[in-house]
Amino acid sequence: MNGAVVTVGAELLAGRTADTNATWLCRQLHDRGVTVERVTTVPDRVGDIARVVNEYRAEYDAVVVTGGLGPTHDDVTMAGIAAAFGRSLERSDEALTWLTEEGGYTREELTTGTADLPRGARPLHNEVGVAPGAVVESVYVLPGVPQEMKTMFELVADEFTGQPLFREVVVADEPESALVGRLEELRAEFDVTVGSYPGDGVRISIESADEDLTEAAAAWVRERVEEHDSEPPS
Ligand code: AMP
Ligand code: MG
Repeated sequence: MNGAVVTVGAELLAGRTADTNATWLCRQLHDRGVTVERVTTVPDRVGDIARVVNEYRAEYDAVVVTGGLGPTHDDVTMAGIAAAFGRSLERSDEALTWLTEEGGYTREELTTGTADLPRGARPLHNEVGVAPGAVVESVYVLPGVPQEMKTMFELVADEFTGQPLFREVVVADEPESALVGRLEELRAEFDVTVGSYPGDGVRISIESADEDLTEAAAAWVRERVEEHDSEPPS
């Protein structure tokens, strides 16, 4: 399975909020064996949201969208999703019933439009906040508030499946340029995905769907590089 992540919000594009939702979602999806092919941030504009969601739902198996749910003028994500599917936004009786029966709100407390979802969407209840999320075909719409997003993701996590990968990291205490030849040899010798990430030492990441192969490749590297004495970060 492959997928794309779309984060919505002017504050992300202005650099005022770090896009931790994208990183968290990429990690969750990757750990479930989903290959994430795109991460895109768009402003709170219906047309921009609709355009990118339409492109990605045609291209990838699943699209996860976060941000822009709620009652204020800049919360237009549901309208963008509805536009992407050519559907109207309609009050979801199921979402409204949940909010009043389980969420503990009275109808009067809920701002107009709180339970409006694209027609035919499957609502996702918000156990931490108010605004419901939604699933429309392969598009998953989650809130922007990180704790709400994470809790809601757990409701659908099992729907993201793929080939889990095994990963080993070796941290080399050598300049990256000195490692080029050995990394080339490693890739020729083993059918694994190799990444090289310089920083405090060079993190050499080895990944494949075969646990034994991944371990053998990592052992091969450990025998041939000067290892950094710090623990490799996960
Ligand atoms: P929103 O749902 O877009 O109105 O966002 C509500 C709040 O969630 C924002 O004020 C941010 O603090 C936070 N937030 C929204 N999107 C993200 C994101 N991609 N990463 C981290 N925090 C976010
Ligand atoms: Mg907002």
